[in-house]
Amino acid sequence: MNRFAGKVALVTGSSNGIGRATGILFAQEGAKVTITGRNTKRLEETRQTILKAGIPESHVLAIPADLATEEGQDKLINETVKRFGHLNILVNNAGTAFSDAEGRIGLDQPVSDFDKVMRINLRSVVTLTQKAKDHLIKAKGEVVNVSSIAGGQQAMTGAMYYAMTKSALDQFTRSTAIGLIDHGVRVNSVSPGVVVTGIGEAIGMPEGSFEKMAEFLESRKECIPCGKAAQPIDIANVIAFLADRKLSSYIIGQSIVADGGSSLIMGMNTVDMNSILTS
Ligand code: NDP
Repeated sequence: MNRFAGKVALVTGSSNGIGRATGILFAQEGAKVTITGRNTKRLEETRQTILKAGIPESHVLAIPADLATEEGQDKLINETVKRFGHLNILVNNAGTAFSDAEGRIGLDQPVSDFDKVMRINLRSVVTLTQKAKDHLIKAKGEVVNVSSIAGGQQAMTGAMYYAMTKSALDQFTRSTAIGLIDHGVRVNSVSPGVVVTGIGEAIGMPEGSFEKMAEFLESRKECIPCGKAAQPIDIANVIAFLADRKLSSYIIGQSIVADGGSSLIMGMNTVDMNSILTS
């Protein structure tokens, strides 16, 4: 399938996880892609995977950049447009969390962690989208943000600051969608549940712990009803759907939940009330 032929996509956080799968998928489906991250070794692995899939070198631009800096963001936009001539699709995927070395959570977690996670998960999305705006308007393009079910209605005491960034991102998606649709640009987002990526190690979990956690959650129907944690490609497919105007043209400012059913379960519905009432 060549559904993105002639399109240029910038995918942040494509040196690993969901962003890597998305960059590869876009390239396989005909787009010219800018891939980026701070880790040059992992970024090169993404580039090599794309080239091994038979994509010409001229279709992929790898730019190491720290999204927490405006210089890094300027570089991404300017070099993409210089190399490929325009920008059709912006995927604001890069994101992380910061856990406290002393295990403090909720209001007890130092506010410096709040500042750090807001800077990357939210502020960088705002400023990168601002910098991309005129190019996207010119191309009548698409923005896809990567949020999380953590930003939903339920409390997230264990990762409160992270969850706050994603709730705010959902509002950013809705509000910018209405602002930009007047100019022909669509903005949407995806809210994944548990996805097996590098995020565990990125937030300081020992190697293998995130996978162990995912296996446990898979085994509990009240945690992941479909019985399977997602792989990055499962989310990349949703991102590609939202970036594909032929398939999703009437979806504006929505966050599509892709979580195997996790966010539909309420704690009080997980107990066998019948046996409690009859015992
Ligand atoms: P990974 O850790 O595998 O990938 C994160 C990507 O973000 C990496 O490419 C990393 O690049 C990049 N990144 C992080 N900080 C910066 C920075 N300061 N500057 C530039 N790039 C940065 O995680 P995921 O693939 O899981 O995460 C992708 C998105 O999905 C995030 O927004 C996350 O919140 C969201 N998500 C993930 C879920 C999951 O269960 N995995 C669930 C719900 C949402 P590098 O390290 O090279 O800088």
